[in-house]
Amino acid sequence: MTIFYEFEGKLYANITNRCPCSCIFCIRKNGDSVADNDSLWLEHEPSYEEIIKAFDDFDKTGLHELVFCGYGEPMERADVLLEVAKYVKQTTDMKIRINTNGLVDFINPAFDSYKMRYIIDCISISLNAPDPESYLEVSRPKFGLPSFNSMLNFAATVKTIVPEVMFTVVDIIKPEQIEQCKELAEGLGIPLRVRHWVTDNESYT
Ligand code: SF4
Repeated sequence: MTIFYEFEGKLYANITNRCPCSCIFCIRKNGDSVADNDSLWLEHEPSYEEIIKAFDDFDKTGLHELVFCGYGEPMERADVLLEVAKYVKQTTDMKIRINTNGLVDFINPAFDSYKMRYIIDCISISLNAPDPESYLEVSRPKFGLPSFNSMLNFAATVKTIVPEVMFTVVDIIKPEQIEQCKELAEGLGIPLRVRHWVTDNESYT
C-alpha cells in the first residue's frame, strides 16, 4: 500500500482516497498512480501509526518538501494530517505543503484552520474556475453552488495563517476564464499557477 511516494524531487503523502469533488481533469480518472509509482488506491485508510512508520521507513535522502496530496482530498483527514505534519516538523526540516480543494469548512466544519499555524508552510488551493457556476461544472463538488465561496473564504483565512498560499487552475477551462481567475486571485493577493491539463499522469505536479 503506497502511503508515501516520490515525484520530481518531492515526497508526497497519500492518506485518503476520499474526496467530495469529481473534477473533470482529476488524474484519478487516468490510471492508478503517477509516474512509475505503485497504485495510489489504498487498501484501507492508514492510521496515524501506520503513516508515521511509513514515513520513518521511507528513504528521504535529497527530499526537502512533503506534500499532502495523493489520490484523494487530504483535508478529509485534517486532524490526522496535522498530527503527522507536527511529527514531520519536529523530526525533520522539511517544508510542508497541502494541496487541497479548499472545502474543509464543508468537509469537516469543526476543523480550526488556526491549528495549522507554525506547522504548515504552504497551502495550494484549487481555484479551478472564476465563478460559482463554472466551478460547479469543473469541480462537481457534492456541496453544490455554495462550495465556491466557501473555498474562497478558506483561502482568505489561511492567507493570514500560513506563510505561503497559492491558487491553481488547470488549462482545461477557456482562456478568458483563466484571465478572470487571474483577476480574482490578484484581487485576493494570492498568486495563481496555471497547470497544464495532463492525461498520462507522467507530468503531474
Ligand atoms: S479535488 Fe483533487 S482528488 Fe478530488 S476530484 Fe478534484 S482533482 Fe480529484
